[in-house]
Amino acid sequence: MKILENDLSQRRAQKLYRERLVLESPQGVEVRVGEDTLLSFCSNDYLGLANDPRVIAAFQQGAKQYGVGAGASHLVSGHSRAHHALEEELADFVGAERALLFSTGYMANLGVMSALTDRNGAIFEDRLNHASLIDAARLARAKVTRFPHVEVSRLAGLLAHTPRPKLITTDAVFSMDGDIAPLTGLSDLAAKHGARLLVDDAHGLGVLGQNGRGTLEHLGLALALPVILMGTLGKALGVFGAFVAGEEALIETLIQRARTYIYTTALPPAVAEAVRASLRIVQEDGWRRERLRALVAQFRAGAERLGLVLLPSLTPIQPVVFGTSEAALQASQHLREQGILVPAIRPPTVPEGSARLRITFSAAHETAHVDRLLEALSAIRV
Ligand SMILES: *Cc1c(COP(=O)(O)O)cnc(C)c1O
Repeated sequence: MKILENDLSQRRAQKLYRERLVLESPQGVEVRVGEDTLLSFCSNDYLGLANDPRVIAAFQQGAKQYGVGAGASHLVSGHSRAHHALEEELADFVGAERALLFSTGYMANLGVMSALTDRNGAIFEDRLNHASLIDAARLARAKVTRFPHVEVSRLAGLLAHTPRPKLITTDAVFSMDGDIAPLTGLSDLAAKHGARLLVDDAHGLGVLGQNGRGTLEHLGLALALPVILMGTLGKALGVFGAFVAGEEALIETLIQRARTYIYTTALPPAVAEAVRASLRIVQEDGWRRERLRALVAQFRAGAERLGLVLLPSLTPIQPVVFGTSEAALQASQHLREQGILVPAIRPPTVPEGSARLRITFSAAHETAHVDRLLEALSAIRV
């Protein structure tokens, strides 16, 4: 029986084999991998907070005050003052009645969707939704329909023919493309059809909107029915964890029914303390969002001069599509030889034939870093 070995060698042959890098340094603009110091354009630490001294200090203080482990699930005895305060601050920040912490965004999506739908329900997903939203629909066991990427009118047609209770879900900023979902249209459509709309703002929170409240703020939308917001704390907020925000009855329902909330250990309270510090910085440091916008504009102008094909993204996610996995791997390898770290993103993370370099920017990057990236990209021939 060589089933696993055969599968693995097939993956290798298809250039789909994945390997991990071992970082010797904290996350940052420069990371150490083995003996090499690499200029990184691939983390989701968009605001440069993952290694911020104030966030680290809050984490240390939290560990002194609460110890390391939460010791139990939230419903048993693991819900500390730190968690509770963070939930209130997050709800305030995004303008919701309540917020509920989850251990990861993946679990939050699973929890919400399986708590709100069952076999009798219908779930509608944008075709490019994150894997956690796809998996969540499976766990919910509802009838799943995937609609063409950002095509609100196509979704309208599908909804009209479904008598079941409906849940629509979308990435707010698409994780591998960087474009923004048509949330206004989706929200109107959901309201019209009595559906809920779960918005996964993993990549917008902290980054988009005047105050960093995310994609809803960017689009001038309130967090009100039918919208449910899922935000993550391990990307722009630089720490770990996730939350769901919405109306009182929604949060109470999740506490009663969301299995990935109920049957798992609460986040370490020190993590909650670190997020509280980072949330303050997100609100105070508007310059970090300004800096990101400037870096993205610099990159797009330079890349267009080089004739690179960019996607219509205004966010810090700036993919360069190469097509085959082999071409994307070669491009990544070329950058690596120039001391630049951007792994190739291949199927099934992205659709077949659209393997890419997913370049991401951080407020900690400097103009000169972007110049170096552009210069290295200019030498790639595929
Ligand atoms: C990263 C990500 C998640 C998962 O969040 P984690 O906290 O890392 O589990 C969910 N949705 C999207 C769109 C993401 O990019």
